[in-house]
Amino acid sequence: MNKIQLHCMCCDRILEGEKWDDNPLTINPVYNGLIFRSNGNFGSTIFDPMPIGNEEFLQVVICDFCVMQRDERVTRVYNIKTTKTAESESFEVEEREENDQH
Ligand SMILES: [Zn+2]
Repeated sequence: MNKIQLHCMCCDRILEGEKWDDNPLTINPVYNGLIFRSNGNFGSTIFDPMPIGNEEFLQVVICDFCVMQRDERVTRVYNIKTTKTAESESFEVEEREENDQH
């Protein structure tokens, strides 16, 4: 494992992380943050790759603090593999002590 530093896309805070090599798939874990990946979106004007042969995605890291600040805008999707239709709900971060946020 190699220690790395990543920047939060929203606030530019530096997050510590680990990875095995130069493969972006091996970035895990990122401490105090989350990794978001998008395979693109048909309606996007900036990233809508054809999913034929070359699988690709965009990847960003957002710190836990920034996600907590906007958790009402996050959808938690679960039971993806156990039901035909995934379930979803609003994502809400539980209240934490002030010191836990950073
Ligand atoms: Zn942030």
